[in-house]
Amino acid sequence: MAESRISILRPESLYPLFAPVTSLTGVGPRLAKLFERLAGAHVVDLLWHLPSGLIDRRFTPRVAEAPAGVVATVTVGVDAHFPPASPRQPYRVRCMDETGFLHLVFFHAKADYLLKALPPGETRVVSGRVEHFNGEVQITHPDHIAPLADAVRLQTVEPVHPLTAGLVAKVVGRAVAAALKRAPDLPEWLDPALVRREGWLSWREALLAAHAPQGEDDLLPTAAARMRLAYDELLANQLALGLVRLALRRQPGRSVAGDGRLRRRVLDTLPFSLTGAQERGLREIEADMAGEGRMLRLLQGDVGSGKTVVGLLAMLSAVETGAQAALMAPTEILARQHFATLSPLAETAGARVALLTGRDRGKAREATLAGLAGGEVDIVVGTHALLQGDVAFRDLALAVIDEQHRFGVHQRLNLTAKGRVPDVLVMTATPIPRTLTLTLYGDMDVSRLDEKPPGRKPIYTVVKPLSALDEVVAAVGRAVGSGARVFWVCPLVEESESLDLAAADAREAHLRETFGPRVGLVHGRMKGADKDAVMAAFAGGGLDILVATTVIEVGVDVPEATVMVIEHAERFGLAQLHQLRGRIGRGGERSTCVLLYAHPLAETARARLAVLRETDDGFRIAEEDLRLRGAGELLGTRQSGLPDFRLADLSRHGDLLAMARDDAKLILNRDPELSSPRGQALRTLLYLFERDAVVKTLRSG
Ligand code: ADP
Ligand code: MG
Repeated sequence: MAESRISILRPESLYPLFAPVTSLTGVGPRLAKLFERLAGAHVVDLLWHLPSGLIDRRFTPRVAEAPAGVVATVTVGVDAHFPPASPRQPYRVRCMDETGFLHLVFFHAKADYLLKALPPGETRVVSGRVEHFNGEVQITHPDHIAPLADAVRLQTVEPVHPLTAGLVAKVVGRAVAAALKRAPDLPEWLDPALVRREGWLSWREALLAAHAPQGEDDLLPTAAARMRLAYDELLANQLALGLVRLALRRQPGRSVAGDGRLRRRVLDTLPFSLTGAQERGLREIEADMAGEGRMLRLLQGDVGSGKTVVGLLAMLSAVETGAQAALMAPTEILARQHFATLSPLAETAGARVALLTGRDRGKAREATLAGLAGGEVDIVVGTHALLQGDVAFRDLALAVIDEQHRFGVHQRLNLTAKGRVPDVLVMTATPIPRTLTLTLYGDMDVSRLDEKPPGRKPIYTVVKPLSALDEVVAAVGRAVGSGARVFWVCPLVEESESLDLAAADAREAHLRETFGPRVGLVHGRMKGADKDAVMAAFAGGGLDILVATTVIEVGVDVPEATVMVIEHAERFGLAQLHQLRGRIGRGGERSTCVLLYAHPLAETARARLAVLRETDDGFRIAEEDLRLRGAGELLGTRQSGLPDFRLADLSRHGDLLAMARDDAKLILNRDPELSSPRGQALRTLLYLFERDAVVKTLRSG
């Protein structure tokens, strides 16, 4: 696809938004790290960081009329300072208006700062929450102290943004305000009729309005400004998917139909026969591949539903024709896992398999590359290292992408650019509600593996408070005593990776103390080879208990593992817990999953854990996940397994999604190259939401 190489520059109007956050005054490298954790590394990320609350400072009572518990902005004369008699007592500043005294209270205050901020005899405007204490009216640590001239500026509604440890409201508010100053007026990319009908503002006005809520209603996902922004994001998403589809289908496909000889050998070797769902999926895939059109198919199936074998058989049918196939996995561990399971099977059939990951360097890597270019390698399994520029195939006919939500659309595109229009099979392990399949995959064809391989015993799931830890440890001891292998998962807290590590370290030490040396630890910061060694030891039975910090490290197949303990299960999303749990119950033995939670347990967290106890049907769990998210509590989308939107909330903006889908279809029917004036504006929209790779598929710049 030569067109895909034409690079189109991001519109200049967006440059200031894609500068690093350090380009904002007052944001240095230290704060930048925190902002990155909170919202993202670029100015644009702060635009998407919408307020989650507000403080109304428009109430300006006189002191005697200020009720306790409300936020008030009062104008007072500074009367006298009362430094504390002992450091444990607060510093007090007495102020007054014509109706009475107002005491400002400061703990751990610096006298010189307070004398400067509140000079006796002068007038100040202070804003904060009013308290009544021992018959006095007071404000502890006012949010604002300003000279009279600033009164009007203070008496407004102040947005409150979500924070992260180490970042206070004022710093975030200031940075967001600075980011908003950079928001340019952009040409309208929406259909004017739609904008009129919905009563929407322009993009920039909507953005400013969303950041300046005037009342609680403005914070709702249904507020007009937020709807407009969400729609923009969804439209960018749908348009990007549509463009990828167009690019992939632009060239006619080719018919890839093997004679079945390799597949037959593998099927004969397998110790099981395919499930009905696997057979059906495979038939659909083979029909697509044999057809003249290009395959774009999604193989959707729960953890353990047997997607890998289906992927292998599909790849073999390409190899039977003399062509090559690639399988790309999201992590090193998963790539190795796939390689370990696939290569013996493929090799009995006579296909040559290679592994290519970021860890391969030097001679070994060169040999693999030569094998791929020369056609001596039939199947390559790898990570996104497969996308590197110097990886070339003699004839790639099928790209299988084990997605698990970790690749973006553009990566899919990049791998397929390496072949002469290869067919594409995307495998995803997280079942997604039907309504949402669209947002991630556009209108790909879907095969669902909705049937588990036979002989699986259901997983027994128990929910226990962390206070029952000793009891759980004892039970784990009994299980290990009778030969069980145990996954012990410690959660990833986004706030602090080092704290996570410390927690996992401590847990490993604790378990070692109890059970001796057959306890291992694997975490994201470990070197690849060390990780492999620990994983191999666990898979091989050299370790009884594997403590893991991150979800992904557990994305491995150890059929002998029959127990999983998940600490702080309340911090995980439903889909994520379901995926984790799917790592056990893969062998013939009955498996147990213990979900440990810490008090206090929020209502929705309780509901999530209850769902898991009740069912292990991934599709049902996905629907419940969406419903519970709709019910209020906001989990990071990353944790939920749902697509990662900044502004759109799929549990509430489902209607907008449907609209955006139709809109995108219409746009691409009329102007597939986005070359009309509106098309140009839509390109800006794509850049704004970082769909740059997709814009590059367009022919005309
Ligand atoms: P997924 O990738 O969908 O999570 P896998 O392909 O890793 O699932 O399969 C999980 C396990 O089930 C593997 O050990 C695999 O060998 C086994 N398996 C796959 N298909 C069948 C089947 N039809 N009958 C029995 N076991 C199967
Ligand atoms: Mg798999």
